[in-house]
Amino acid sequence: MNRETAEPSVDTLPGPKATERVAYHREHAATTTYVYDFVWDVTAEAEGPFCTDADGNVLLDFTSHVGAAPLGYNNPDLLERMAAFDLVDPLKVAGQDFYTTAGDPADVDFPGPAELMEQLGEVSSGYGLDTVFLSNSGAEAVENAIKICYDRSGGDYGITFDGAFHGRTLGALSLNRSKAVYRRDFPEVGKIHDVPFCEDRNCSPDTCSCGFFAGDGSRLRRLLDPERGSVDPADVAYLILEPIQGEGGYRFPSDSFMEEVAALCDEHDILLVADEIQTGLGRTGEFWASDGYSIEPDVVTAAKGLRVGATVASEDVFPDERARLSSTWGAGDLIAALQGALTVEQIREGGLMDNAVVRGRQATELLRDEDLPGVTDVRGRGLLLAVEFDGKDRRDAVVDAALQQGLLTLGCGHSTLRLLPPLDVTEREISLGIELLAEAVRAADGQN
Ligand code: PLP
Repeated sequence: MNRETAEPSVDTLPGPKATERVAYHREHAATTTYVYDFVWDVTAEAEGPFCTDADGNVLLDFTSHVGAAPLGYNNPDLLERMAAFDLVDPLKVAGQDFYTTAGDPADVDFPGPAELMEQLGEVSSGYGLDTVFLSNSGAEAVENAIKICYDRSGGDYGITFDGAFHGRTLGALSLNRSKAVYRRDFPEVGKIHDVPFCEDRNCSPDTCSCGFFAGDGSRLRRLLDPERGSVDPADVAYLILEPIQGEGGYRFPSDSFMEEVAALCDEHDILLVADEIQTGLGRTGEFWASDGYSIEPDVVTAAKGLRVGATVASEDVFPDERARLSSTWGAGDLIAALQGALTVEQIREGGLMDNAVVRGRQATELLRDEDLPGVTDVRGRGLLLAVEFDGKDRRDAVVDAALQQGLLTLGCGHSTLRLLPPLDVTEREISLGIELLAEAVRAADGQN
């Protein structure tokens, strides 16, 4: 496959092989989020945002596996460098758990967990964060973030936001305020307060329409007010937020909102945790989405494209006591960390953040110019892109119609469609993807 000339082409989707494969998978797999209606054939041709499914359909993937594949399929640089590591040598992959082995540290071709942690410290140096705990998933990165905040602050309250999503383990799900299915009837960590998240990127205290600024001062300010508030700021262990909400509907907050959050964390000495699991790794055109706002996180969580979970903070926020944090894979799985380190390097050194800005602008401009039926908003930062529809049914119909045209997209929130093309997406691929999406919107309009 040559990505410079590839075109999506769909015969039947899902086709017979995909249907059979899904049925086999479901024989033993627990019911979970069933995200895609396609089965990627890992042995077939794939490059950049293009992949081939089990029945030979060629698809344009604008989901990047929900951001977990920021370099797209078969990135040639990544493949070449991973091949050099000779991954098939069993001595290199077996037996690694608590150890930090990754070949000769002087050999830059073989980065491992230590190099990944060093890179994460470098990209977080603006916040003075230089220490990392690696784990297996985003939810674990969040679990460990709140654990270190409870430990360091001595407080037992946490603050989260309406619409938030932070993962599915019991601690992380206690912070969720998006869909009921994530929390319903599960025991939760106590004393978590929520406040409205800003969903109007032009919001200011005088014109607020999102409910965050109400009356005199913000809802957060009132919650923490020593006289009128219900929470003593001294008891707050952390405030956690996604700089741009993901699952909750790609909600882009206003600068005023972020300034108020930053000011209150500062005023009351509250540890600010930025969950960058969906927004980080260059997706917004800056390494962390927080870099584009006035917040200064004390702890950052990342995962997905890193292939491991990462909790990043300053050394003094982490507990000193041995075994307070630990995991069999806490030194970072060797192969996963290798891929993560190479991915971060590519994002930082391959001009991919600049590309995200330019291609993101191209996508939003093309979409706005289309003036599509039922579209109420087009928004984006870098390649974190969203199209808002006038209802859930229409959004769902567009996701289905796009798939039939050969374009993979995802829903989020109530009536939002999200697009996460790979960070090296080209001008031609964006034009192609937006054209297919526009056709899907028109096709779905006929059904509404
Ligand atoms: N936090 C955010 C913002 C996420 O988007 C996700 C996953 O999508 C998570 C946490 C949980 O990550 P994981 O699925 O790796 O546990």
